[in-house]
Amino acid sequence: MTISIAIVWSGPAAFYTADALIKADCPCVVDIIERLPTPYGLIRYGVAPDHEKTKNVWRAFAKTAQHDHVRFYGNVEIGRDILLNELRNMYDAVVLAVGAGSDRSTGIKGEDKKGVFGSATFVNWYNGHPDFCNLNPDVNVESAVVLGNGNVAIDVARVLVKTPDEMSKTDLPEYASNSIHNSILRDVYMVGRRGPNEAKYTNVELREMGQLENCVPQIDVSQIPSSVQGEMSDRDRRLREKNLATIKEFVDRKPEEKEKRVHFLYYSQPIEIFGENQVEGVRFEKTRVQNGRAEGIGEYFDIKCGMVIAATGYTSKPVQDTPFDHKAGIVKNDDGLVDKGLYAVGWIKRGPTGVIGSNKPDGKLAAEQILSRHTSNNESRNKKGGREALNALMAERNIRSISFKQWQLIEEAEIANANDGAPRKKFVIISDMLDVLNRDL
Ligand code: NAP
Repeated sequence: MTISIAIVWSGPAAFYTADALIKADCPCVVDIIERLPTPYGLIRYGVAPDHEKTKNVWRAFAKTAQHDHVRFYGNVEIGRDILLNELRNMYDAVVLAVGAGSDRSTGIKGEDKKGVFGSATFVNWYNGHPDFCNLNPDVNVESAVVLGNGNVAIDVARVLVKTPDEMSKTDLPEYASNSIHNSILRDVYMVGRRGPNEAKYTNVELREMGQLENCVPQIDVSQIPSSVQGEMSDRDRRLREKNLATIKEFVDRKPEEKEKRVHFLYYSQPIEIFGENQVEGVRFEKTRVQNGRAEGIGEYFDIKCGMVIAATGYTSKPVQDTPFDHKAGIVKNDDGLVDKGLYAVGWIKRGPTGVIGSNKPDGKLAAEQILSRHTSNNESRNKKGGREALNALMAERNIRSISFKQWQLIEEAEIANANDGAPRKKFVIISDMLDVLNRDL
């Protein structure tokens, strides 16, 4: 008997789960339900526009989406068009793969001032997400502060300082390119509350900052530890040693070498974002690292800036009718199991850490859990309507879903519209995506 599974949203965790389900030795139908007409979630709206190679994983996801047992339902929002409980009543298992695409509050005084953005908002903006394409941030400022020392902080800093030429073969939307490349921005301060050895960015990203066309990295030699100390795995030690070696190479770089500078600042925790209504600067307290944590030492300094991006981590939004751990920003779950027939994978399960591939084990585990529960006689299967029930409900409510084939037509139009050398020109407005389909009718 066939098991029916609905996966909510279509980012990496969703596709890895679908892939594990169809590869298992058990018949199942898998329906991937996404609120936008476009699949791939963070691959499309999270990965930096100049990291096209990282996005290539979508090719494997597209194969999964076209498997006989898988169907993509784009443009259908669970919680709005169809309630989660309704979905649970229709499918043997529902998998939440809704990610963690929201900004986590930093709790810093002044974070609500004009010119302060969370990285989720800012990254979605420069990646052409339909919900953020009208953000219109004023990036025409001489200096900007990026809070945080993770890969998102480094992505944001890099996208802000790359030249039009460096971005020409990317899918950076025209509106973002116009704002960024006409900006007077010269100095970006990337500030970490701990030291270079505790920074979370990976070495490829860090090295890239030393190879930019019109921007030079700056670091104060007094902030660089001589070596990597303390207990850690060999892997972690190797990664940190690589970063330390790269940071040391930045010491000799001259500020006048290029037009723009990214300043790597460490041991500084943000205390307050100041300014009338618009941000005018950030006050920091210097820190030292004690037992792995940043500890203020009572010395303060200010950085003047016209824009702040808080790249201090993401969080998830609570999911309707589902227990939520507000502190951790995840759905309450026991190794992925949320409730009978309800599972969580990816960032909504374990928080916003890890790279794209980190979602693969989540998907595999969820598939194993679903199949073992439903192939043992503990949980009844195929008593629910599954895909047929979903189709009937959508017809009754007049919900227009986008199939994977239809998405491919939108994708073809994006590729056809792309500038020379760019992979695609993203549609950023949903009605423009749907117009492509009306044209082809
Ligand atoms: P992250 O790696 O957790 O980094 C968050 C940074 O914010 C840390 O430096 C953290 O400092 C700092 N921070 C948190 N709260 C703060 C506060 N109140 N004040 C000052 N600093 C604060 O998160 P992320 O950069 O958002 O990345 C999320 C995940 O996506 C990561 O696993 C990342 O590797 C992945 N990602 C990967 C890539 C890539 O592979 N190229 C690109 C983008 C994202 P502490 O360390 O002191 O807590």
